[in-house]
Amino acid sequence: MSELKMPCRVCGKDASFIGGKFGKYNVRKFSFYRCADCAFTFIGDPWTEYAEIYNRAYYRGEGADPLVDYHFELDHPDKTIRLYEWRGILEAVNALHRITPQTKWIDFGCGNGGLVRYVKQQAPCDIQGFEEGWIADTARSLEIPILYESDLASREGTCDVVTAIEVIEHVEKPVEFLQAVRKLLKPGGILFLTTGNAAPHRKNIFDWGYTTPEIHISFFEPSTLERAMNLAGFTPEHHGFLPGFADIIRFKVLKNLKLRQPALWERVLPWPLLSRIVDRVDRVTAHPVGRVTAPR
Ligand SMILES: [Zn+2]
Repeated sequence: MSELKMPCRVCGKDASFIGGKFGKYNVRKFSFYRCADCAFTFIGDPWTEYAEIYNRAYYRGEGADPLVDYHFELDHPDKTIRLYEWRGILEAVNALHRITPQTKWIDFGCGNGGLVRYVKQQAPCDIQGFEEGWIADTARSLEIPILYESDLASREGTCDVVTAIEVIEHVEKPVEFLQAVRKLLKPGGILFLTTGNAAPHRKNIFDWGYTTPEIHISFFEPSTLERAMNLAGFTPEHHGFLPGFADIIRFKVLKNLKLRQPALWERVLPWPLLSRIVDRVDRVTAHPVGRVTAPR
């Protein structure tokens, strides 16, 4: 029996039980809660056996998220649709904070480090990843620089840019997560993150493809993320459809179509226009960017 109320993990007010959804990989029913105050939707009883969730099968696309295939991406960086996402992120970040060889950038929750490797090749700057577990060791074996958790303290207040690409929806305590990121940045630094926008799915959250409850446990509307960023000491900024989003959205569309490699048919599509149309429905560009405006 699920509790009918529990404290919102963003703002602390009462959140209400709104229903349950079965996982496909861990077949049990997960309880969803929604906060009327900050619009945060979250799983009250998340699966927290991280070693089991993010096992080797997960990174091969045989686990809780069948659309992940980190091995293919590591082995074939030139042949993966992930290239579009990497290119888009680099362009968006550069629009927010001009990248120079001195730019210090951490990709927080970098998975296999693919973005880190791509940025190093395309725009020389001081980029490092942060990730835990064996996937990080795999990336290190390919000489992709991945920080250990024990390295983070020495990076506090040094970064110009932190990216967290499709990370915060996996996090149980978003404000604490954002505070940890905030500590790494120096004044003027930015957090560019991507996550699904729950607002268009408010009335049918259980039908939303993003609610895979084993792994995605926190669902944000732009106003929720704004609140969480404020609580963590960021100044949220709204930049809308930044340069690069055409590529980021192109990747998301192709991933959901289960395409792994770029193909002729998709190359001829008018992505600058298509991505705008997709964004009118999904509104991923409505999420804020976090800026550090005051010294800690
Ligand atoms: Zn709340």
